[in-house]
Amino acid sequence: MHIYPSASAVVRDLRPDEPVILNRPHAAARAARFFSQKFPGKSLYAVKANPSPDLLKVLWDSGITHYDVASIAEVRLVRETLPEATLCFMHPVKAESAIAEAYHRHGVRTFSLDSIEELEKIVAATADQRGRPAEDLYLLVRLRVSSDYSELSLASKFGIDLADAAPLLQATRQHCDALGICFHVGSQAMTPFAYVQALERVRAAIAEAAVTVDIVDVGGGFPSSYPGMEPPPLEDYFGVIDRHFEALPISYNAELWCEPGRALCAEYNSMVVRVEKRRGDELFINDGAYGALFDAAHIGWRFPVSSLDDRLVDQDREFAFYGPTCDDADYMKGPFMLPGDIGPGDYVEIGMLGAYGAAMKTAFNGFGRAEAVTVADEPMASLYRGDRIDPRKSDNVVMLR
Ligand SMILES: *Cc1c(COP(=O)(O)O)cnc(C)c1O
Repeated sequence: MHIYPSASAVVRDLRPDEPVILNRPHAAARAARFFSQKFPGKSLYAVKANPSPDLLKVLWDSGITHYDVASIAEVRLVRETLPEATLCFMHPVKAESAIAEAYHRHGVRTFSLDSIEELEKIVAATADQRGRPAEDLYLLVRLRVSSDYSELSLASKFGIDLADAAPLLQATRQHCDALGICFHVGSQAMTPFAYVQALERVRAAIAEAAVTVDIVDVGGGFPSSYPGMEPPPLEDYFGVIDRHFEALPISYNAELWCEPGRALCAEYNSMVVRVEKRRGDELFINDGAYGALFDAAHIGWRFPVSSLDDRLVDQDREFAFYGPTCDDADYMKGPFMLPGDIGPGDYVEIGMLGAYGAAMKTAFNGFGRAEAVTVADEPMASLYRGDRIDPRKSDNVVMLR
């Protein structure tokens, strides 16, 4: 496999007419080692953030053994890619046939739920041919928690209210080998206190239900670094979670789990795009809302950008992007900071697209094709290099080039 030294080298060699996805396996490996060595429990990779088989193998090789899957297609994909991985089916609303296939064919033992109906479905789908119930289930009840500290809410769709949790926890306890409580504080949680309020709710749920809890799963939400969204060090999150977990009324050998998606893969991808047209401070580029830039268009997410052209000399100024499709909604307001003299034919690297970026590409309107190549240079920002400046101590954003 050819490895390019840098994004600029890709442009120099390929002068690509279509967007190019850049893979940085070294960055994903570093993130995986960080979580597997420093998180005070088990880290499950949330596959939906980026299901690329190449990435799955990098994470596996760097210590991630457990995978949070949310659909039967993800179950099959991870089982095929990593035959020895432990899969946890953490979508609280599943088809009964999906549960049955996951349990009987792919060895899945861990499932989440947030209703009695889902519990009944899981019990029925995992029984053997003679109707005898499974005795090896790990069942995690998903609790609804606040998304107030996160950039992206995951609070309204799933999770049982604290007020209703006790009967569900008690009923679930009857059907499992290990009982867990899980939650999701929302994606890109900008402070560790997001997890504190959630763990307080876990404490209340355990007290109310008076059940033995074997697993506490704090979900995803661990942040990455984007312009205007510089989180505190992940060690702070781990420390706060560990202290509040240790203080819960749970069995002495209870396990702590987390389900990072974004934090494990954001640094894995960036993308090289070409400017096709300029209209004032708007750049028409060849990828957009229906490609890897879904979040840039739909929720105004600001990804870091960098011009790949040394000829450009003007000071940076603010630009908005239009994507290539004919849809007006294919618009990204940014602002994205690029040299004032940028124009048609110039190439731009858009960084930190490994999470919910590269995975979102569609073929709408005939666009969406992108070659993927591997590069050896650093991602535009990193939480894992060890030389990052704590944003609470400085206003500096650590940009690595
Ligand atoms: C999406 C999701 C995750 C990953 O969330 P991030 O914010 O990317 O870390 C983890 N668990 C569940 C159940 C999810 O739906």
